[in-house]
Amino acid sequence: MTNVDLHLHSTASDGALSPSELMQRAAEREAELVALTDHDCLRGLEEARAAAFVLGVPFLNGVEVSVTWGTKQQSVHIVGLGIDPDSTSLSQGLASVRQGRIDRAREMAAGLARIGIEGAFDGAMAWCGNPEMIGRAHFARFLVGSGHVKDVRTVFRKYLTPGKPGYVPHQWAVLADAVGWIREAGGVAVIAHPGRYDLGRTLMERLITEFKDAGGEAIEVACGSHGLDDMHKFALLAQRFDLLSSAGSDYHAPGEGGRDLGRTDDLPPICRPVWIPLADRILTHQQTN
Ligand code: AMP
Ligand code: MN
Ligand code: MN
Ligand code: MN
Repeated sequence: MTNVDLHLHSTASDGALSPSELMQRAAEREAELVALTDHDCLRGLEEARAAAFVLGVPFLNGVEVSVTWGTKQQSVHIVGLGIDPDSTSLSQGLASVRQGRIDRAREMAAGLARIGIEGAFDGAMAWCGNPEMIGRAHFARFLVGSGHVKDVRTVFRKYLTPGKPGYVPHQWAVLADAVGWIREAGGVAVIAHPGRYDLGRTLMERLITEFKDAGGEAIEVACGSHGLDDMHKFALLAQRFDLLSSAGSDYHAPGEGGRDLGRTDDLPPICRPVWIPLADRILTHQQTN
């Protein structure tokens, strides 16, 4: 099985397609297994699951938890796969992570207003399907849609990253808590897109060690933000740290750059795919005719 995509976003967080539209696209692209992994929120899962079932796309429940980690207060994302969406511990944990997004968004808008970009709060909200999940991607879409900036990549570089006018630092979940909520919900915790973190070798190994100590079991090896070099580097780290390997595009929206939904590079043969131990949690609808 290679057409596996265990990292996808819908309008429940900062994706542009509804959960059903996303599953429709997965079916068109002949995905053999998908997981919806919205940021800090489970509310797209029911719709996605129902659509995947009807379309015959094998489906896993997922989530991507925002974490602040380390002495540099780095943002790190932890994906949870095969979670029970009815878990109280996970739901309550995520509710606490979502708190503060609206206030942060007002501060982001104030920062942009100071450099002459007015109306960014309402503008970003107009791109957001779930107000309590307002985030940087919605601001990026507003800035591109209103003609202030030519594309999303440029928005992040010039406005929405540390030190830039629309960036507001934020305290997300504690790493061990995020991993704990995922485990309490019966899921497998995965370090998302490790190649994106600005950590040297020592800090990356410290992150993996703390993650494992908290009960984390996997790392994304094939993903939208990894080239082949990163993929092989993290395959070797997975092997060394005895972690399972995941594959996911981190797909957000048509035409927004990055990978399309569906097949990523094949995991190197040294990897143990994360979906093997999750087999009993995959919802499958076998077509009978
Ligand atoms: P937030 O959770 O509000 O801080 O937003 C984080 C989201 O912004 C990520 O999940 C991506 O969807 C998006 N993002 C972050 N950095 C970039 C980038 N350089 N280019 C495009 N999108 C990005
Ligand atoms: Mn996102
Ligand atoms: Mn992420
Ligand atoms: Mn993501």
